[in-house]
Amino acid sequence: MGAISLDKSFYPILNSDKCQGCELCAKVCPGDGVNFEDLTEITFGYRNDSISSIGYVSSNYIGYARDRKIREGGASGGAITALLTGMLEKGLVEGCIVARMNKEKPWIGEYFIAHTVEDLLDSQDSLYTSIPVNVSFKRICNLPGKYAYVALPCQVQGYRMAAEKIPILKEKIHFVIGLFCGGSLEPYAVNEMLQAKGLNSSDICNFQFRSGKWPGKIRAILKSGEIVNMHYFDYKDGAYNYLIRLYMPKRCQTCIDSSNEFADISFGDVWLRDKDGRYQFSDHSTIVVQTSRGSQVLKEVCESGNLIAREFKNDSIYKVQLKRKGIIAPLRIARLLGKGKQVPVYDRPAPKAGTKERLTERMESFMLWVGQYKFFRYPIMKFVTSIYSYPLIKLSLYIKRKKY
Ligand SMILES: Cc1cc2nc3c(=O)[nH]c(=O)nc-3n(C[C@H](O)[C@H](O)[C@H](O)COP(=O)(O)OP(=O)(O)OC[C@H]3O[C@@H](n4cnc5c(N)ncnc54)[C@H](O)[C@@H]3O)c2cc1C
Repeated sequence: MGAISLDKSFYPILNSDKCQGCELCAKVCPGDGVNFEDLTEITFGYRNDSISSIGYVSSNYIGYARDRKIREGGASGGAITALLTGMLEKGLVEGCIVARMNKEKPWIGEYFIAHTVEDLLDSQDSLYTSIPVNVSFKRICNLPGKYAYVALPCQVQGYRMAAEKIPILKEKIHFVIGLFCGGSLEPYAVNEMLQAKGLNSSDICNFQFRSGKWPGKIRAILKSGEIVNMHYFDYKDGAYNYLIRLYMPKRCQTCIDSSNEFADISFGDVWLRDKDGRYQFSDHSTIVVQTSRGSQVLKEVCESGNLIAREFKNDSIYKVQLKRKGIIAPLRIARLLGKGKQVPVYDRPAPKAGTKERLTERMESFMLWVGQYKFFRYPIMKFVTSIYSYPLIKLSLYIKRKKY
């Protein structure tokens, strides 16, 4: 009905004059909670309450795009883009619902529909900022053909619930590709990073989160052509790990789906380290197949040569992903609930946790509280992304490596 618009941080505003009171938006929004058993039935066709916090894994692989340009342009080996390219080439879909930074306002993200490989190249990168991809639903229902859709876990949960109630949506979105997600950043994080480097948003023509050699760096591309690094170390150990503790949106702080459990197939980095603490698989994606459709499409695209993937039996591939959402978030939910705060309702019990995890949760929650106030978070962010934090990051990595 056009009753929902978005504010500048992409939170919804309801226009009560246009609202018909059908409550469809509330019924399909995962914000208030997620019933994992219901979503399991919707997605996989059966109920099961005894699942691990990684969800339903049919098989898992590690892989990357065969095409060098796609592999180098991707966040972690371009596996998603290779899969989408294969699907377009085989005519399995008419287009792909993907994301990019807005051309006119490169400090915010947007969805778009890619119809060619060139369009897909424009969508590569992990955009660690909230992008309202599901805004595409209204448009997609009026377009011819079927579509693939790439989204974060919360967006896929919303899609699955909406598709149950809107049959045309289920028909149009033929294939769901999920991103693993350890949490996004509030959209204002980009402007604050620019400010910390003495830049204005009007100075830039693009903003990249995983630019250059894997795992990449956060970079602003200026209208003058100059490329400015937003931090000194790599994106993961020198930026994301800190930024996520200052800029994570409130709802992400209580999300417990890290592996995108209800996608047909989901993708993440391979953060496995060797015994010396070095990353083992640069430019590779973890590929988790959930549904039989996911398995079929992966097989077809690998056979056509777009994607190279090999089965990977070792479940340590997940374990590195699970801590924040599998343990810390449930602990946070239980603690907030005890204090009478409003938290999302899940039908999944919190896992057992020890003192160390409880302490980590308290420390992370304190940082997230600090992050609500620009007065505190801005100088911290400025410091951790400056050259002065370099020795400290090196030291923390040295200690981390010692553990391996
Ligand atoms: C906010 C966020 C958090 C993540 N957290 C983790 C994590 O904790 N652990 C982990 O292993 N992996 C995480 N990932 C996934 C990982 O960073 C890579 O995106 C993934 O491995 C795919 O890489 P690729 O090279 O195969 O994809 P590419 O070929 O680079 O394609 C990336 C695809 O993702 C889409 N996309 C990018 N950003 C967004 C967005 N914000 N919203 C919707 N679609 C988007 C693009 O449109 C494109 O289709 C996260 C990604 C995002 C965006």
